[in-house]
Amino acid sequence: MVRKIEFSGEIYDIELSEELLEENRKIAEENKKKFQEYGVRVIEVRGSIGSGKTSLIESLVEVLSDKYEIGVMAGDVTTTIDAERLEKKGAKVVQINTGGECHLDANLVRKAINVLDPRKLDLIFIENVGNLICPADFPLGSQQIIVVVSVTEGPYTIVKHPMILEDADLLFINKIDLAEAMDVDPSSIERDALRINPKLKVVKGSLKEGMGVQEVLKSLNLT
Ligand code: MG
Ligand code: ZN
Repeated sequence: MVRKIEFSGEIYDIELSEELLEENRKIAEENKKKFQEYGVRVIEVRGSIGSGKTSLIESLVEVLSDKYEIGVMAGDVTTTIDAERLEKKGAKVVQINTGGECHLDANLVRKAINVLDPRKLDLIFIENVGNLICPADFPLGSQQIIVVVSVTEGPYTIVKHPMILEDADLLFINKIDLAEAMDVDPSSIERDALRINPKLKVVKGSLKEGMGVQEVLKSLNLT
């Protein structure tokens, strides 16, 4: 059974006042401290709808669940589809329905922390809502950030959303088996990404084909 917490009227309005962003940053710092205290490693996964966020987390959970106790916070506007997929792979999942909002914020994550009982977990993945814009403004308190883009989003998805990569650690370019059909060059997406964030690790793969998962594990020192 997927545990679910619903939020309505608790998420801040989209008008991003500096005060609101500052408040979010403060809560994110508190979350980060709490995660450290509990000794749990937390990785946020961002990307558009359909880019492969859930698939990547599924693949990682599949490989790592023998070794680690894994929790997932699955952000979604309304559905529990992803949460159910992830639970099948052996993770403890809490669904965060944002009640219409297009991103998670640190306050939602703070509430979800207690539901997951992080003292018993080694690793938590936070799947943000499918969106490449506002998650950049709302740090959640994770120690690492993965951004997933798919070549099916076209060649400009990264150059159009540079902010999403600024604090990211790893970019996963997904569905490269479709690159030729889409007339998209994954290497040019990689170059654009490295121009925005030269410290970024980039992995190209196809989750449907099981390509790239080992490289992600290695890049994040998860093996
Ligand atoms: Mg998903
Ligand atoms: Zn948003």
